[in-house]
Amino acid sequence: MSIWGEKCVRCGERRTRDTYEGLPTCEECIQNLKARLRAETEGHRVCPMDGAAMSKEIVYNVVLDRCPSCGGMWLDGGELELLRTGIEAGMASDLGHALFVPPF
Ligand SMILES: [Zn+2]
Ligand SMILES: [Zn+2]
Repeated sequence: MSIWGEKCVRCGERRTRDTYEGLPTCEECIQNLKARLRAETEGHRVCPMDGAAMSKEIVYNVVLDRCPSCGGMWLDGGELELLRTGIEAGMASDLGHALFVPPF
């Protein structure tokens, strides 16, 4: 093990000293895995616009509900901020979709 740590087994790019389930995993991949886990355990939402079942999508490690029918997205409280952080970090410039932001 070098001072830079092991190569991340998930992306095979970044070196890390963090582990996930005993395997060297970089911080970014850990966040992504946790987001995927959340997406799997959360129930599906229904679109407030047209009642279609929304599908889960992971953008910048944030779990979004996207309506396959109208393309609208649902963000949980705090997710917009997380997303904005990702966007401001230069990871994206345009979402191109409506946002449903709940009142809490
Ligand atoms: Zn990684
Ligand atoms: Zn919809």
